[in-house]
Amino acid sequence: MSLKENFDKDPDGKDGQTLRKRAYVFDLDCTFFDTRPLYPAMRENAARLLMKHTTMNAADALDTVDRVLAENNGYVREGFAREFGIHPHETVDTVYDPAYMELTSVKFPPGFRDLIKSLDGPVYIYTNASTPYADKLLATNGFLSVVEDVYGVDRLNYHRKPSDGSFRAFEEATGLDDTYEIVFFEDSLENLYHAKQRGWTTVLVNGYSQGNMHANADMATWDYVDRMVCDIAEFFDPDIKPKWTIPHDYIYR
Ligand SMILES: [Mg+2]
Repeated sequence: MSLKENFDKDPDGKDGQTLRKRAYVFDLDCTFFDTRPLYPAMRENAARLLMKHTTMNAADALDTVDRVLAENNGYVREGFAREFGIHPHETVDTVYDPAYMELTSVKFPPGFRDLIKSLDGPVYIYTNASTPYADKLLATNGFLSVVEDVYGVDRLNYHRKPSDGSFRAFEEATGLDDTYEIVFFEDSLENLYHAKQRGWTTVLVNGYSQGNMHANADMATWDYVDRMVCDIAEFFDPDIKPKWTIPHDYIYR
């Protein structure tokens, strides 16, 4: 039986029990929207912060951002705190400062807003970025009114996914208890793994992440990914055929 059939037959993972209410929880960057067009501005924001706190020039600051990102799983906040004594709150505020971003450059499929509006449960954005960034990005693209609420790290005591503290703070803040089936969409396998430990239904959105699934997956991955889709619309439309493309560089690596 395919994963999809398995999911449809037993959507809440508990055969024979009453269906729970559904809540839909979306990661923001490269899950809800394809935000890759904003990454250069985030990188420059991070470099500006380094230049404020050190004597680095722009080129050195940009190189340092790249190094810290590579060494810290795609985040600078912990590395900046450790190496340069910059408070993580300032890092989050500065890196995601939308003032320097072209927020209309993000991408989402046609009809996506209507789809989100039509869902049969509350919709939450749950992001490791800042809430002001998420709010402004959603508002600029006409989505703020179709979501129930938006949680950035600053509303979750600066706990970030995949820490258990983050998931607990989110559940507590939203009131999503076990009367809900929480359907969680993410592009990060690590975050999905921890969500699955908490009993959430997990959907890997891989279309904006350039095949990293194929480079890194092993069979154990399938125990914590309930569905894998290219984009969110694919999850809700049984007629959409998966449209995986694996970048050539990843094949036979
Ligand atoms: Mg993401």
